Amino acid sequence: MASFAPAAPAADRPVHHSWIANRQVPGRGPQRDAVDPAGGGAFASASLLDAEQAKGAIAAAQQAFPAWAAMPFAERGRLLLRLRDRILGEAEEIAQLIHREQGKPPAEAHAVEIFPALEALKHLALHAEEILRDDAVEGQSLLLAHKDSRIVYAPLGPVLVITPWNYPFGIAMTGVAAALAAGNTVVLKPAPATTLIGLRIGALARDAGLPDGVLSVVAVEDTVAATLTEDPRIAKIVFTGSTATGRKIMTAAARNLTPVLLELGGKDPAVVCRDADLDRAARGIVWGAFVNAGQTCASVERVYVEEAVAEEFVARVVEEAARLRVGGADGDMGPMTLERQRDIVEEHVADAVARGATVRAGGVTPKGPGWFYPPTVLTGVDHTMRVMREETFGPVLPIMSVPSLEDAIRLANDSEYGLTASGWTRDPDVARRLCERLSAGVVTINDCVYSYGEPTAPWGGVRQSGIGRTHGAAGLREMVSAKYVAAEFRRGPNLWWYPYGGEFHRLMSAANASLHGDGIVLRLRALITLLGSRRFWRRVRVGGILRHIDKLF
Ligand code: NAD
Repeated sequence: MASFAPAAPAADRPVHHSWIANRQVPGRGPQRDAVDPAGGGAFASASLLDAEQAKGAIAAAQQAFPAWAAMPFAERGRLLLRLRDRILGEAEEIAQLIHREQGKPPAEAHAVEIFPALEALKHLALHAEEILRDDAVEGQSLLLAHKDSRIVYAPLGPVLVITPWNYPFGIAMTGVAAALAAGNTVVLKPAPATTLIGLRIGALARDAGLPDGVLSVVAVEDTVAATLTEDPRIAKIVFTGSTATGRKIMTAAARNLTPVLLELGGKDPAVVCRDADLDRAARGIVWGAFVNAGQTCASVERVYVEEAVAEEFVARVVEEAARLRVGGADGDMGPMTLERQRDIVEEHVADAVARGATVRAGGVTPKGPGWFYPPTVLTGVDHTMRVMREETFGPVLPIMSVPSLEDAIRLANDSEYGLTASGWTRDPDVARRLCERLSAGVVTINDCVYSYGEPTAPWGGVRQSGIGRTHGAAGLREMVSAKYVAAEFRRGPNLWWYPYGGEFHRLMSAANASLHGDGIVLRLRALITLLGSRRFWRRVRVGGILRHIDKLF
């Protein structure tokens, strides 16, 4: 179990501050303790900004925006790679800080927090330009096809990135990297429980040489964060957190019609087919359920296994779960980050047991310091239980035996959430069926959870799991507006400009009939009327029309 060190006396604890325009700003608000979830007590604190100070970060982001947006991709990419180098240079320290403040073992912090951050920075530094390159548009309309038109992907402005405590480094860095690569400036608001990790990102940005105001990090109370979401200078809110807070964010954003990208909760199913490689399925699902002590939006939160292989699968899962070493810097699983989250886990397990579930592993809160909870496996579960319907967000794996694959798919889709889903089978046809029919933003076969670490894989959910995508080309395009630009250089008025009148009336009706009329005779007749119009010859560039004559058909 966790090593327990008494909390440092308040006066001896270092105080950390927010970063605005590359300067540390002591907050005028209250102080917040950073608490070791393994039971070590408070070890540092952060000064919190008041609303006026926090808005200073938005002002800095607004001021920095024009120069950052105008900077060539290659130059922005060079700075993103410098940020990557700083992270790599300090990776062990960052992993230790994540371990101390959030709880996951340092090795896991390298794997699931630092790895995705480095990959995202590299991918965006190297590929943002090609993903956001102008798209040439070939017009469809014969009368407009001569225009020189393109879609330009224009950065938005200051982006507010609000992050949760479960992956305080990886989620913050991937969100920040995409916003910056696209040419936006960023105000990052880290979660209260992991404030120090967020503030560390401010220091890394300064050390990497990002220009002042391009990335600020503000430690604030939620009431102050709420005022930031209502600020009209914010061009987009990228929010990752619970569905309940996501609703509040969207409501606040509605005031200024600020666009939102919402990455919310999940209740992600795994479907284990009768032909699955049970050893691989058990090991993969145990990792997917217990990585980060089950506090992952894409954790495997429920399993449907075909009854023909259910007992064997459960036995292997229980065996795997029993092997996990809980606590300590070298362990497989750390404590939960928050006591109130562990309370929810206890409630879900108690509710399941009261309704007839069987605890096959874990299920008892250990005595002693820290917010530990053991890897827990439940069987005999059904959809009347909270553990099968609500996000548990802890190390609990309920397994339901079902008569057929059809039942498994139906139950997997019976959820208000739809973030990720996994299928476990050796049969490519069954795999294809699962990919088509499981309703989620991400479906993986014979693996789970990992795709957040792949920067080209779009990430996001359906239904109550969110709106929009991060990662990949789809994620980068969330950080820009598609601007249609069109030009033509010729003299004289266009066909449809004033004045109207009888001739224009006849001409337009003939134009519509010649382009869309039913049958060649009708269309030719309309074309003759069109060509007989003086206004047509005066206002249309015939060369342009002839070049695109194929659009007539
Ligand atoms: P949360 O909703 O409590 O908080 C998220 C962030 O919002 C925090 O920074 C918090 O301080 C801030 N916040 C709270 N109220 C606010 C307000 N009124 N205005 C502005 N900001 C406000 O979520 P959490 O407990 O930190 O994180 C856990 C949740 O996040 C889980 O539901 C998990 O599934 C979800 N999550 C989703 C993804 C994903 O990619 N879909 C990833 C990680 C976590």
